[in-house]
Amino acid sequence: MFKGILIDKNDAGYSARLSELNEDQLPEGDVLVRVEYSTLNYKDGLAITGKMPVVRQFPMVPGIDFAGVVESSEHPDFKPGDHVLLNGWGVGEVHWGGLAEKARLKGDWLIPLPEGLTSRQAMAIGTAGYTAMLCVMTLARHGVTPEDGDILVTGANGGVGSFAVSLLAKLGYRVVASTGRPQEAEYLKALGASEIIDRSELSEPGKPLQKERWAGAIDSVGSHTLANVCAGTRYGGTVAACGLAQGMDLPATVAPFILRGVTLAGVDSVMCPKPQRMEAWHRLVPLLDVQALDAIANEISLDQAIDTAKDLLQGKVRGRVIVKVAG
Ligand code: NDP
Repeated sequence: MFKGILIDKNDAGYSARLSELNEDQLPEGDVLVRVEYSTLNYKDGLAITGKMPVVRQFPMVPGIDFAGVVESSEHPDFKPGDHVLLNGWGVGEVHWGGLAEKARLKGDWLIPLPEGLTSRQAMAIGTAGYTAMLCVMTLARHGVTPEDGDILVTGANGGVGSFAVSLLAKLGYRVVASTGRPQEAEYLKALGASEIIDRSELSEPGKPLQKERWAGAIDSVGSHTLANVCAGTRYGGTVAACGLAQGMDLPATVAPFILRGVTLAGVDSVMCPKPQRMEAWHRLVPLLDVQALDAIANEISLDQAIDTAKDLLQGKVRGRVIVKVAG
């Protein structure tokens, strides 16, 4: 038997409970992993609370990220004792995820734990850090360079936002951080932000074309914020859009795209092809102060994960939550 969080939906309603599970209940797969650490992302918060229909099969173990050690493997790339990392692929949504002491899944979804990282540090980065790196790579792929001007990061105090600020600053970009928590300005400046703006500047309906302020942007907020970000992006700039913290809608016009040649580039971490995800992990490790990760990570135990998920959705959590799953 081993412990895991189990989400269920039935006549009694939607529930998430810490449960005793056994290996026979695990889904099919060619690799069995002892999960050492997982993490709580925004999406895990949605899954655990049922606030949005993230979970598409029941019962489900949530947890879109984990790091652990292979216990048994029929996959040619992995053998018992290998340290591995998982992000996305629908794990924690349609396939049992990382918030349990064991996980069985397709070896094709796993990547080796990047050199220089512990399982704990990899989870302090998690999908948030890896997605931020995918966004940074997207801006670079569209030709946005530090010489072009300011880069806006929205949702800057969130997981993706914090890593985006830090990675961009390390690469020499001048970063403007938009946040609803201006009291955290010192934290954002320590991460590398040059300027902080209040997110209320961007969150209300705005004009289709606004003053050209941003050479590029990383947006994890969506809705009016993303519409305003596009409207305020400079000629030829690129906006990497990855999130929906304000809303899934996009009440925008085509004006920035057809009159200023702005590119709106979508970023998805879940089904991102393996070579690109390997590149993102490979590139982000040297850019981060790995020791500092230990400081930004709030460690909780598996039995605290359900309550913490609620706090996360209410914006009460700063930095990253990592979940110690098995020793
Ligand atoms: P967090 O909860 O850590 O951060 C979200 C941040 O968004 C908050 O900290 C807050 O930043 C801001 N925010 C929250 N509510 C609002 C609101 N109503 N209006 C404007 N801003 C708001 O989440 P993550 O960083 O983990 O994820 C951010 C988003 O990106 C989520 O929507 C998530 O689903 C998505 N995501 C997408 C991925 C992909 O593959 N495309 C991968 C990972 C995440 P502040 O306090 O600074 O204002």
